[in-house]
Amino acid sequence: MKHFGLSIWGDDNFIVQGDTVNVNYGDKPSLIAITEEIRQRGYKGPLLLRFPHLMKKQLDTLFRAFSKARKEFGYKGDFHAVFPLKVNQFPNFVQTLMEVSEPYGYGLEAGSKAELIVAMSHTPVGAPITVNGFKDKEMISLAFIAAKMGHNITVTIEGLGELETIIAVNEEFNADSHTPVTPHIGVRIRLHSSGIGIWAKSGGYSSKFGLTSTELLEAYEMLKRYGLIEKLRMIHFHIGSQMSDIAPLKKALREAGNIYADLKKRGASSLGAINIGGGLAVEYAQHGHMQERNYSLGEFANDVVFLMQEIAKRKGVDEPDIYTESGRFVAASHAVLVAPVLELFSQEYTAKGLRLKKNNPPLIEELYDLYTSIKRANAREYLHDALDHMESLLTLFDLGYIDLEDRSNTEILVNLIIKKAIGLLKNEGTDELKKLQDRIQEKYLVNFSLFQSLPDFWGLGQHFPIMPLDRLDEKPTNPASIWDITCDSDGEIGFDRNTPLYLHDIDVTEEEYFLGFFLTGAYQEVLGMKHNLFTHPTEAVITFDESGAYRIERIIEAQNLLDVLEDLEYDTGYIDKRLKRRIEESSLLTPEEKQETLGKLYLYLSENSYLKTIQAINERTETDKG
Ligand SMILES: *Cc1c(COP(=O)(O)O)cnc(C)c1O
Repeated sequence: MKHFGLSIWGDDNFIVQGDTVNVNYGDKPSLIAITEEIRQRGYKGPLLLRFPHLMKKQLDTLFRAFSKARKEFGYKGDFHAVFPLKVNQFPNFVQTLMEVSEPYGYGLEAGSKAELIVAMSHTPVGAPITVNGFKDKEMISLAFIAAKMGHNITVTIEGLGELETIIAVNEEFNADSHTPVTPHIGVRIRLHSSGIGIWAKSGGYSSKFGLTSTELLEAYEMLKRYGLIEKLRMIHFHIGSQMSDIAPLKKALREAGNIYADLKKRGASSLGAINIGGGLAVEYAQHGHMQERNYSLGEFANDVVFLMQEIAKRKGVDEPDIYTESGRFVAASHAVLVAPVLELFSQEYTAKGLRLKKNNPPLIEELYDLYTSIKRANAREYLHDALDHMESLLTLFDLGYIDLEDRSNTEILVNLIIKKAIGLLKNEGTDELKKLQDRIQEKYLVNFSLFQSLPDFWGLGQHFPIMPLDRLDEKPTNPASIWDITCDSDGEIGFDRNTPLYLHDIDVTEEEYFLGFFLTGAYQEVLGMKHNLFTHPTEAVITFDESGAYRIERIIEAQNLLDVLEDLEYDTGYIDKRLKRRIEESSLLTPEEKQETLGKLYLYLSENSYLKTIQAINERTETDKG
């Protein structure tokens, strides 16, 4: 896995230069330099770095692919795209996205009232807004208000009840109006074909969403009856996220294309758009055999354009405008989570840690002999003996025959023997050895919360690329599992023999070591949970000026302790008063000590939940930096 699979998942966004991983843009700064500069400004704990140029790159790629396909096929319909807000609603993301997408007339997709408000306030007038998901009267009324502001908005109905509401709201808004304005209407169709993969539930006949053919015909009749058929503009489907294979999309396109053509021929003359939803996959794999996507964006665009053209031609209708709502594809690459390693757990297993006595139990003496005399020729045999002795020694401890020091010596010696044996036998690659690697894997305690920053790993087992930010000129040798700082045993990315991660053997008392978690810009932020009250990490937007120099902008610090509690509706005024009084009334403190303790308490309350440092030496480095 050269350079942690960067050539598989990196899409040329990052490069290894010397011993660091660098942004492949502008002056190509290293991620470690950016991280250190932010930390020097006093921000500690994990950092989320956003790169607007990577958002722009994804949009350029998407629009270029469709432009090329339309030109190649002489396609007459237009191409439009919207960003589905559920993928990332964070203001630093949305505002930046709207800035970089300006040349494209890129719009937003909303699936709830709050998202609709973001769309109404952030989409430039004229760029498309689409509204999906279940809607009540208020949400539909908001869409009418957006239309009256001049927005190009399409409300996609998910069922006939919503259409009835649209008809009622239309009465209310337009009956006495000088200039009646109604949003465009879209219909989400229930596909008989379905997606694949872990997100496949959005498509298919048992899907939560969409109208059956019978309901479609009924909707058509209703729209005619109420004089709204001219508002029917769009057919919509969404087959699910992270499509690994393009075949289900092609099936869905044929289905949707034929529905479009039939409704149009029947008399829906304003119908002119197919919205193919999202689902474009992102390559998260760090190992070749785990690759998640079997198509290119060019192939995807060609398939969409070709199939729509073919159906339109055969049925004798105009080629529809094409809309996409891909979110993961646009957002994933823009964000990198950087988190410091706080501790390595088996570092105590060094020969230095041995507490051998003048007279050791015989089995320990034997373990020590095995450790000092193990060689390639006897490695397997000695290894088995060592494991055997360990079992016996642990039993002796349980029975009270040996003490805690003996037990500690056992742990250390067996660990050292396993390590030596693996080194000696590494070219044999037997299953037994691989199993032993699990046993000596190094646990890296990392200052982040998996629940907050990688919830899809916790919920779905979604893998995200992980690599250290420096030391890349050295071969990493420790089979690594990553522990977060929550008190939850699920907060672990375990070592997996099929997709092994090796990290460097570092001494955190001597030097800092940062891990980057890549492709975390889609879904992770808002799905993140405040488990143990760890909050969204400190974030920063990294831009580049014309000369290629980077700038750190729009830093938003992670919430402080009292803000977190306030979010849970604690009365923080009461908490504040109570803590203060308890210090003031404490008989264990002198008046000066009370002052000092209060000062410390307030300092801590103003900071976030993430850990500062564990090792004393880091403490020194941090204060050196101010
Ligand atoms: C979630 C969703 C999307 C975005 O899907 P991605 O896989 O992120 O591209 C698009 N459209 C609808 C209707 C959705 O629900």
